[in-house]
Amino acid sequence: MDYNFLEIQNGYFKASEKNKVNNVNLLIKNQGEIISLLGPSGVGKTTILRTLAGLQKLNGGKILLKGKILASNDIHIEPEKRNVALSFQDNSLFPNYKIIDNINFGKKRSNGDGKSIDVNEVIKLLHIESILEKFPHQISAGEAQRVSLARSLVSKPDLLLLDEPFSNIDQSLKEEIQVSVKKLLKRINLTTIIVTHDSYEAFSIADKCGIILNQELKQYDIPYNVHHEPNSVAVANFLNKGVFIDVDVVDSDCAVHRLKHKSLGEIRGKLSNKFSSGSKVRLLLQPEDLIHDDQSPLKLEVVDRKFRGTNFVYTLKTPNGEHLPVFVHSHHIHQHEKSEKFGIKTPIYIDHLVCF
Ligand code: ADP
Ligand code: MG
Repeated sequence: MDYNFLEIQNGYFKASEKNKVNNVNLLIKNQGEIISLLGPSGVGKTTILRTLAGLQKLNGGKILLKGKILASNDIHIEPEKRNVALSFQDNSLFPNYKIIDNINFGKKRSNGDGKSIDVNEVIKLLHIESILEKFPHQISAGEAQRVSLARSLVSKPDLLLLDEPFSNIDQSLKEEIQVSVKKLLKRINLTTIIVTHDSYEAFSIADKCGIILNQELKQYDIPYNVHHEPNSVAVANFLNKGVFIDVDVVDSDCAVHRLKHKSLGEIRGKLSNKFSSGSKVRLLLQPEDLIHDDQSPLKLEVVDRKFRGTNFVYTLKTPNGEHLPVFVHSHHIHQHEKSEKFGIKTPIYIDHLVCF
């Protein structure tokens, strides 16, 4: 293959004068990659998918699929000629057709030459066997989403676009379906872009994750890096998994970098951005970064404790009023109450020192 599977070059996506995403550069190198687009509601995610499907004109830049131009300044390939399937965020089933006919409609449209997909397998995998003879108005929103997903899957497109495909599905079924859909997509090597506003979903399902904020694609990377090395304060704040604390860069020249915080003392690790010794910076501190240790002389006051099932998240207060989150395994023998002291293991070592 001498082309990239999908390329968006300087893409300009526009819903209205105010609502746009500009300068999008996004590359899917190989067939079968799963990409997630993550961003707050109203940022333009659906607009991007509609434009990729051809339902909307591209306002600037270029989109290439398997080396062929789908859209550019002077080219607009019609939706039915793209072999791109879009599963809509809202119910888009044909009201006068039974569920099974809605699904088979996808099959009839299909002209792809990828590996075949067994309709019955998809029906089973999405748990919709019992509603096949019903009509769309007789099923729930979560079921409608699964039917819409089934219809898109059996159409064997070159590119599958899923707009918040799991948003209405019950939590207990959601994870199982996410896992089996991912397995199926990988097995049939179907290139997919999934739009979501749920970072857990984006991280668990996708090979690469794009973060869209303030009219831009801010970061496009593997989920691990997006979480551990967000490339801007905006991305870190959007993911909302940690807090920023003021630190001084003590030594940024050795293999292990050293920072100093007023109450935590020395923090060692690897700076992801270059700063010279002596700089004052903001360090991203995530709940997994500090480690609880009852024996440690470094103690901070507990101001809040949340039970999250597999873990607790403690909020600790520093003498200068900062609130720091810390995960503790749920089986930790004793629990610390509010206003008690809570030990933190020293020396503090954090793999990824994300500072801005
Ligand atoms: P997202 O999917 O990220 O929630 P959308 O792509 O649906 O965002 O829309 C981005 C913004 O553009 C929203 O605020 C929406 O109301 C607005 N919008 C969408 N389509 C149109 C349109 N045809 N005309 C004007 N505004 C629109
Ligand atoms: Mg949307």
